[in-house]
Amino acid sequence: MGKGRIVIVGAGPVGCYTAQLLKKIGYNPILIEEHIEVGKPVQCAGIVSSDIISLVKPFITDDAVINTINSFSIYTPWEESFAIKKEGVAVILNREKFDTSLGKDLEIHLGEKVSSLEQNNGIYLVKTTQGKEYEADILIGTDGVDSLVREYLLQKCIDKKSYRNTKLDYYFGLQYQIELSDPSQLLHANVIQVFFDEDIPFFTWIVPENSQLLRIGVVSEQGKKVLDRFIREKNIKGKIRGIVTGKIPVGFIPTSSQGIALVGDAACQIKPLTGGGLSYGLQSAQILVDCIKEGELEQYDERWKKKFGQEIRFGIRARKIYEKLDGNQRAELFQLFKNNSDFIEQVVDFDNHSKLFKEVFQRPKLVLEAGKLLKHYLQELARDFFK
Ligand SMILES: Cc1cc2nc3c(=O)[nH]c(=O)nc-3n(C[C@H](O)[C@H](O)[C@H](O)COP(=O)(O)OP(=O)(O)OC[C@H]3O[C@@H](n4cnc5c(N)ncnc54)[C@H](O)[C@@H]3O)c2cc1C
Repeated sequence: MGKGRIVIVGAGPVGCYTAQLLKKIGYNPILIEEHIEVGKPVQCAGIVSSDIISLVKPFITDDAVINTINSFSIYTPWEESFAIKKEGVAVILNREKFDTSLGKDLEIHLGEKVSSLEQNNGIYLVKTTQGKEYEADILIGTDGVDSLVREYLLQKCIDKKSYRNTKLDYYFGLQYQIELSDPSQLLHANVIQVFFDEDIPFFTWIVPENSQLLRIGVVSEQGKKVLDRFIREKNIKGKIRGIVTGKIPVGFIPTSSQGIALVGDAACQIKPLTGGGLSYGLQSAQILVDCIKEGELEQYDERWKKKFGQEIRFGIRARKIYEKLDGNQRAELFQLFKNNSDFIEQVVDFDNHSKLFKEVFQRPKLVLEAGKLLKHYLQELARDFFK
């Protein structure tokens, strides 16, 4: 096995997990992280599927998982709420503890911000604003939403046409951690409440940490206004203990070339319908490490896209369509979901949203109902599946 020098930019969860997997096969990667500690600041609601916890179990401490979710309650302004129930479908993370446990026993150079990258005879020179320099045979960008490694790869390592065709959308998230004045306000300690509305591209969420602490967040350009109004309207009383802000990148981009690979948010390995990034990012880290082990780094882009590409493309299309629907159409869509909530419970997959869509296509009555509402959009959505 070749033991090239590997530099990983960004010690978020995906960078740390990639490094742990590389260590397991005999590499000794160097991580460079601009912050002075791993795990801060937190930019996440901390919802992941139980499957992902099984994946990273050997590396995380028990206190990284703080709650288990058995149900999602869906609220809209148009009709009575309904629930999608599935025992243990997701867990809530303490992201700080999750990240720090993934970062244990790794060589992490903290407080160093990578400022420029150069390539000379196949070797990368990584320079930091602190004046340090690192040489790498393989460069991994796990530097998140505003990835510098992504910018370098797209500009320098792929052809001009692919670069021009690369399109990225950014969404803005805001979340408060609220300690309730009256804990009896929290009636659903194992339920995530999700609120859809006409003017919000994603949704507003209430995630219970425990019987006293809630995470209330929204993805919206006007996050503060929307969230403050929501808290007022729902009459949620308590102290704001923490504020989380962050961006979510949605797109489908080239992610490996000439000894460079992107993973996690840097690679836009995000579920476009919910903004969740941990699942595909962590699973793609494993795919990358397998490629490195086999000396096939250049295959990484193709291999992870074989697993999640269709899902991300479907999600991007579905998101664009959802954003175009007006209030009446969204009302009809949620009515359809509500009428079929038993069916959704049976087939829904937390990490693979298109599975539900594929199952709908097996049921002519549902296709007809969905077709009335979504008309030509349905054909557009099906494009990736039935070519
Ligand atoms: C409000 C909000 C809520 C979310 N909720 C969820 C959720 O419930 N579930 C879920 O799965 N996902 C969620 N996400 C997405 C999730 O947080 C990300 O997908 C996840 O953090 C990606 O991990 P990462 O390691 O790829 O990137 P990051 O966690 O962003 O880590 C990147 C690291 O790189 C470092 N870095 C960046 N540039 C440099 C540089 N030039 N030099 C050195 N270091 C650098 C950063 O400091 C950071 O530590 C949410 C996002 C937001 C904004």
